[in-house]
Amino acid sequence: MPKIYFIDVTNRDGVQTAKLGLSKIEKTLINIYLGQLGIFQSEFGFPTTRHESLYLKANLELAEMGLIKPMRLGGWIRAIVPDVELAFKMVPEIRHLNLSISTSDQMINGKFRGKMTKESVINEMTDAVDAAKKLGCASIGVNAEDASRTSLKFLTQFGQAAAAHGAQRLRYCDTLGYDNPFTIYETCKKLAQSVGIPIEVHCHGDLGMAVANSLAGAKGILDGGQDAFINTTVNGIGERAGNADLVAVILAVTKSKSFAKEYAIGDNIDLTKANKLAKFASYAFDVPIPINQPGVGSNAFAHASGIHADGVLKDPENYELYHFSELGRGEPETVETGREICSGQYGGISGFSFIMGKMKNPICFASKEEADQVLELVRYANVESHKPLVEDQLLFIAKYPQIAKKLLTLTPLE
Ligand SMILES: [Zn+2]
Repeated sequence: MPKIYFIDVTNRDGVQTAKLGLSKIEKTLINIYLGQLGIFQSEFGFPTTRHESLYLKANLELAEMGLIKPMRLGGWIRAIVPDVELAFKMVPEIRHLNLSISTSDQMINGKFRGKMTKESVINEMTDAVDAAKKLGCASIGVNAEDASRTSLKFLTQFGQAAAAHGAQRLRYCDTLGYDNPFTIYETCKKLAQSVGIPIEVHCHGDLGMAVANSLAGAKGILDGGQDAFINTTVNGIGERAGNADLVAVILAVTKSKSFAKEYAIGDNIDLTKANKLAKFASYAFDVPIPINQPGVGSNAFAHASGIHADGVLKDPENYELYHFSELGRGEPETVETGREICSGQYGGISGFSFIMGKMKNPICFASKEEADQVLELVRYANVESHKPLVEDQLLFIAKYPQIAKKLLTLTPLE
């Protein structure tokens, strides 16, 4: 029986978002939290982008050390041979890639403008798949960008060619959020039946249907007999109106009417990590979580009106579909209302020692040299983030100073 898996693209699509971004340490923390949540893969960045190299290598090192297991780390590049070669030159340790190329007439005519035909799109992609395999890729996903505006006939040819050359998955990108649950179900079912490899659904929210489309697309793929890989981002952060929100999609798959009875998730998801992850992403992107966000919004379990409050007090199931503790909520939070000592790029040892000693898991350094070394890294992290670091970042830097050093090294490479 085919199953559902999750590939989160916060560290690729999310960070591409206009006006938003993450530091390399923030991206790393997102990978660690995603690993704890138990999803299949994090699309963790751009192997051909020079300032990503050390971050990607450092995260692969963390994975090797067992910190991100069992989640895979996959890179995103264009489906052209020079990008594949450059990716392996810059990050030789990379083993999982998604190769992307536009497939719609709109893009072939409106973007490539005579430089590409349908035939050459397929040739570029299969050459790129061949090159990635030759250079040591363990798994390859092939992305049909703007798939929802591509004819089913061409999409099928494209997917079959990818499969014939050894790609493991075809990514169906609803790049502009153009699909609706009915169309994406039909298309994904037919693709799954004809292409013969697992399919990814990648949905955007331009028409407010990213989560619903992800669910319907996944159902189509499963009904077509293949594993379905749903692309998400944390808090739905992504280009324009955003992507399918990770927590909302997991809730929809597991809690919506009859879905979980019919279809199973292949990942070992621990949803109790959801609240922490959503909060950290909100802090790191500096984008508040909407009050009515499914599962993690501050109103998601709030009741005021007489009938609702009375009903939920008698039995929470009267007005709640799931319990807040399932998302890791319910712990009291302390918000400082008096004096604050914060980390900063000009911080000194006295304030830093105070912060580290006051944490939930206080850190005592073995020597002054060790404390000075970590403080120096924390200063650099603050230069990047422009906001006080949270406890998990400080702990990470203190525990893995050599990795932190790599993450903070942004000197342009030769
Ligand atoms: Zn996208």
